[in-house]
Amino acid sequence: MEDASSHVTRDTVSILGIPVDRVTMDEALSRIDAMIASGTPHFVATADASMIVDGVGIPEFGELLRGAALVTPDSAGVLWAANRAGKPLEGKVSGVDLVDQLCARSAERGYRLYFLGAEPGVAEEAAKQLAVRHPGCNIVGTHHGYFKPDEDAAVAAVVAEANPDVLFVAMGIPRQEFFIRDTLPIIGARVAMGVGGSLDVYSGRVKRAPIIFRRMRMEWLWRLILNPRKWRKVLKLPQFVLMVMKGR
Ligand code: UDP
Repeated sequence: MEDASSHVTRDTVSILGIPVDRVTMDEALSRIDAMIASGTPHFVATADASMIVDGVGIPEFGELLRGAALVTPDSAGVLWAANRAGKPLEGKVSGVDLVDQLCARSAERGYRLYFLGAEPGVAEEAAKQLAVRHPGCNIVGTHHGYFKPDEDAAVAAVVAEANPDVLFVAMGIPRQEFFIRDTLPIIGARVAMGVGGSLDVYSGRVKRAPIIFRRMRMEWLWRLILNPRKWRKVLKLPQFVLMVMKGR
């Protein structure tokens, strides 16, 4: 598989028809470096099981994911499905970790980062915390994620003004990815990716799971305990397992 804009031959595993790149964090970061250097816009997806289920259930979402420049494996379910397909992945490359790593990159290389999403005040707080963690990190703007689709163009114009290299959109799956699809040509960010609840995590509103849960690959269980709203998403996990086992 070829990513035409960055001239990279992609090694992917197809999970229910969605290609997931067999990359480590370092490889994903190198690919993102190349996308930024190319100067043209790219859509990057961080795929967990719920995203794959939505990609099958919502045809235009599936199409969007198949057109992404890079799809990273963002959950234990995706790793399991890749193993089953005989193309194991080394580990997760999650949205939450990509935010942190790209802040480190930004501090070294000056990448312009923009945080869009979450409740008012959260993106600013996340930016503040990440700037403490990565001194020199170049966050060029923040905006909350509570606006209606008919305001997308107006918000996109505000983001475009800041000219980000990397736009993180934290508005939940699939709203954040559709926002990127519809506005990336206006915004012109070199890389745009949906990162779900990451800004809540870095703002301190949601604590990462204790290490024991993370080691057991059960961060999702911790989140569920803290946030019952997540049930809808979690119920997609058994659905994902059944679909993979049936081969669809
Ligand atoms: N959110 C938002 N706008 C909305 C709905 C949600 O900005 O209209 C934010 C919400 O505050 C949270 C994030 O989107 O910060 C969703 O996080 P979640 O982990 O539920 O996302 P997903 O698992 O779907 O990626």
